[in-house]
Amino acid sequence: MRLIKYYIRQLADSPSISIEVEMTKRIKPMIKIDKEKCIGCGSCEAVCPKVFKLNEETFKSEAIDADNDDCVQEAIDICPTQAITNE
Ligand code: SF4
Repeated sequence: MRLIKYYIRQLADSPSISIEVEMTKRIKPMIKIDKEKCIGCGSCEAVCPKVFKLNEETFKSEAIDADNDDCVQEAIDICPTQAITNE
């Protein structure tokens, strides 16, 4: 048991682990929609319906599937208020 704990500690301190985490962050950016800026025009949903959906109660856009991001850049470019970011 002590050997396993030591091994896990060594892995956690390994630079390769932090590199892998950093790469994962870069590969999977977070889609954010600024609810204050969103005017509910629906353009993002029109060009990227697998990722964006207008909430029927708030009339604000929501990201429903961040993994399906083929068209996210198009939605960012078309948003009239620059409410969408992908960091
Ligand atoms: Fe809101 Fe922009 Fe989407 Fe229009 S394109 S619904 S303003 S996030």
